[in-house]
Amino acid sequence: MSEIIKQSAAELAEHLQRGELSAVEVTEAHLERISNVDGEINAFLAINDDAVKTAAEIDAKRAAGEQLPELAGVPLAIKDVLVTRDMPSTSGSKILEGYMSPFDATVVAKSREAGLVPLGKTNMDEFAMGSSGENSAYGATKNPWDLSRIPGGSGSGSAAAIAAFEAPLALGSDTGGSIRQPAALTGTVGVKPTYGGVSRYGAIAMASSLDQIGPCTRTVLDAALLHDVIGGYDWHDSTSLQHDWPSMAAAARQGADPSSLQGVKIGVVKELLADASQRGVAEAFERALELAAEQGAEIVEVSAPHFEYAVAAYYLIMPAEVSSNLARYDSVRFGLRVTPEGGGTVDAVMGATRAAGFGAEAKRRIILGTYALSAGYYDAYYGSAQKVRTLVQQDFNSAFAEVDVLASPTAPTTAWKIGERVDDPMVNYINDATTIPTNLAGIPGMSLPVGLAAEDGLPVGLQLMAPQYADDRLYRIGASFETLIAQLEGKQFWELAPALGEVK
Ligand code: GLN
Repeated sequence: MSEIIKQSAAELAEHLQRGELSAVEVTEAHLERISNVDGEINAFLAINDDAVKTAAEIDAKRAAGEQLPELAGVPLAIKDVLVTRDMPSTSGSKILEGYMSPFDATVVAKSREAGLVPLGKTNMDEFAMGSSGENSAYGATKNPWDLSRIPGGSGSGSAAAIAAFEAPLALGSDTGGSIRQPAALTGTVGVKPTYGGVSRYGAIAMASSLDQIGPCTRTVLDAALLHDVIGGYDWHDSTSLQHDWPSMAAAARQGADPSSLQGVKIGVVKELLADASQRGVAEAFERALELAAEQGAEIVEVSAPHFEYAVAAYYLIMPAEVSSNLARYDSVRFGLRVTPEGGGTVDAVMGATRAAGFGAEAKRRIILGTYALSAGYYDAYYGSAQKVRTLVQQDFNSAFAEVDVLASPTAPTTAWKIGERVDDPMVNYINDATTIPTNLAGIPGMSLPVGLAAEDGLPVGLQLMAPQYADDRLYRIGASFETLIAQLEGKQFWELAPALGEVK
């Protein structure tokens, strides 16, 4: 394995700035890694043919003495939910196969302006619906820690690409956990920012009131650096917040010294703990909290009584928004068109196209959402779910009146076997119980690796949650946990991955 691909984005950026590495070298090393391992992993749906050319342009600018942004020349993988003008954007669906967008999503445009080099588009559950990556129309992605297992979802490709050293940075989207849960299952870092903190313009919509774009990386500092690039106000997105955001990278650098945990109040949500059904997950979580307590953090138990209804509310609100957002795939405006044999009416063409273009999970959610929104049922289902959403927000407000951050295991279990849960959608839905409340409340959440489960040796994620606008707090406290875990293990977490070097 080449040394280049093992480096963090922050390390690569330093070497690039000092002229010790060129952007072309860094890009080529990652492209080579992709060509060596991605046949097995299936993290990428498309590769950017212009990656080396873009890198060469950055090198030329640097050689000419131009002052470049901090991360210029560092490669980036992009979840296929984000539209790009130079690569197809499918959102993991057959209905958008080969679709070329006329514009870049704002986060992609900002990344290009920052000199990041797009490597390609990453695999995902169709329209970001899923927790395993198996709902992709383009085949499941495999977990680099164990190729017989799923890497989590919906951001299966972004998380696997990071864990397999195919990219140092990736973009993801999180509607109910799709950045944080795959991060937990692949031993990487993932952040769902405050709703409105990062533009959704050009993110192919799943459930608009819940979707957020965020970073996937191997270190907390790298996530913070990418967050600083993509965050901030965007007039193209009507829900974008006008706010003076502090530097996330500065917070992560400050938190790297774990003594900064002194006096920090960490609330353990009683109701979310009950969801950690695997013993090794609970153990790794508790050990991480003990390490924080040794630094002077105060660990207190808090209760969020309405979280127990969060999954039920999410699976009404989300499908309702899905049924509306996916109505645009009508065989006329985007992508696939299937004409029934012998021709047909507009309705028949639309029906045949949607029947052929959407997978089972997308269809299931369109049907659920259409039913929940239909006249006569609207108040009973959608209306009640919105009330529960308010109660979940109030639970968070009362908890944050007592503590600085909340903590839970990111996911109830470690990565499961490919195929193991495909027959029962409910098992996957319930699995999201730990991540969904933050999406309902619009607050930020982070997952970072805190150990390996004793019984299977697979990574366990710690979820930290902070009040709206306090994303920097996650980076500060997350960086402290990261240092404590590295001290405990005697090496960086990603160095523990046994399968990574062996993937051929
Ligand atoms: N697993 C959740 C779902 O299937 C979350 C998906 C997401 O965050 N995009 O809805």
